[in-house]
Amino acid sequence: MGKARKITAGDRKYLAKALKDKKPYTEMAVRMNVCVDTLKRILQREGLAEFDAAKYAASMSYEEPVMWERPCMKCRDATPRPKWQYICDRCTERNKNYDGVDEEWLWDD
Ligand SMILES: [Zn+2]
Repeated sequence: MGKARKITAGDRKYLAKALKDKKPYTEMAVRMNVCVDTLKRILQREGLAEFDAAKYAASMSYEEPVMWERPCMKCRDATPRPKWQYICDRCTERNKNYDGVDEEWLWDD
């Protein structure tokens, strides 16, 4: 990982135009004589483009978890819990002493 080098006003102008023209990053990187990662760092530092991974992660986490009210396979409790979770939290907690959950246990009423 090389240090992001200083760019000239001309470079900046080129990059701004290249972004506007939707040129591929690879092409810009070649023009700037840097690798794509460095190019992205330059674009971000210059405020030309945003590559903030945390932003994507944050927008993902706002998704509502899908819930269902399927009766717990162990105690038939129908309190909503995340979909595909067959056993209620209470039973899961109780089951922690078990060394792994096998099919037999799942279907035991
Ligand atoms: Zn239960």
